[in-house]
Amino acid sequence: MFATLSDRLSDTFKNLRGKGRLSEADIDATAREIRIALLEADVALPVVKQFVGAVKERARGEEVSKALNPAQQIVKIVNEELVAILGGETRRLRYAKNGPTVIMLAGLQGAGKTTLAAKLALWLKDQGKTPILVACDLQRPNAVNQLRVNGERVGVPVYAPEPGNGVGDPVSVARASIEEAKRRLHDVVIVDTAGRLGVDAELMQQAADIRDAVQPDEVLFVVDAMIGQDAVSTAQAFLDGVGYDGVVLTKLDGDARGGAALSIASITGKPVMFASNGEKLTDFDLFHPDRMASRILD
Ligand code: GDP
Repeated sequence: MFATLSDRLSDTFKNLRGKGRLSEADIDATAREIRIALLEADVALPVVKQFVGAVKERARGEEVSKALNPAQQIVKIVNEELVAILGGETRRLRYAKNGPTVIMLAGLQGAGKTTLAAKLALWLKDQGKTPILVACDLQRPNAVNQLRVNGERVGVPVYAPEPGNGVGDPVSVARASIEEAKRRLHDVVIVDTAGRLGVDAELMQQAADIRDAVQPDEVLFVVDAMIGQDAVSTAQAFLDGVGYDGVVLTKLDGDARGGAALSIASITGKPVMFASNGEKLTDFDLFHPDRMASRILD
């Protein structure tokens, strides 16, 4: 991910090397190249405009630093703007003060929610938590089974409607799961919800009903980094329909150009909290905006 953006930016910065100070024309030319680099990486146009505007303004206004040459100064500005756009500081999970912490996952079908639920459970378990997974994706025929299999692989129990009891109502399952978690003294409840191939009103309503039933401490919007420009409208639709506290980017191991990460964080104002980067259940970690920015500018 971000390989093209990274290459493009490093070419841009190379052109500035050896310059004693930056002229207005240098700043304009650099801004144009950053703009192209971001657009090629699939970053949404309004985000590109805002980003380039901020870089330009700071490049003009920047105090002439003795320690940094002009190329380094531009790299520093771009780095800081990238970190800011990605959410600033690493945003960690907020745990409930009393009772179990409830984390609800929302997103489109295929985004990687069910996989992520198990990854998150394993990650929490490694931190000494005792999570329980809740299968509220009763839409996709195999989702409950998939969660059960993954739960078993990570050694985390799964709360799901019993087979043979009909498909069940996801809202009731969600509500009952919280009682079950309290009874069995689990400290984190991870609620997997159904997705559709596209955004639809019924899906949003169901997710909102589940949210109301479980009163989550954190709602995480799970999005496939590969979906590029579409990610922004999907992210906005879920923000309006369900609301969320943070974003989880999945499939960062793919050849996505990375624009989705920048666009979603910027447009929704919600931080990217976790990154999922592979099929293995250990391919998952907190997302660190500063590390990602450094990787882009490496
Ligand atoms: P859901 O419909 O949102 O629950 O999505 P799933 O968890 O079933 O994931 C959809 C597909 O994406 C599955 O084939 C997963 O193995 C795959 N997948 C999920 N996360 C990742 C990831 O980080 N990297 C890769 N390469 N594949 C992933």
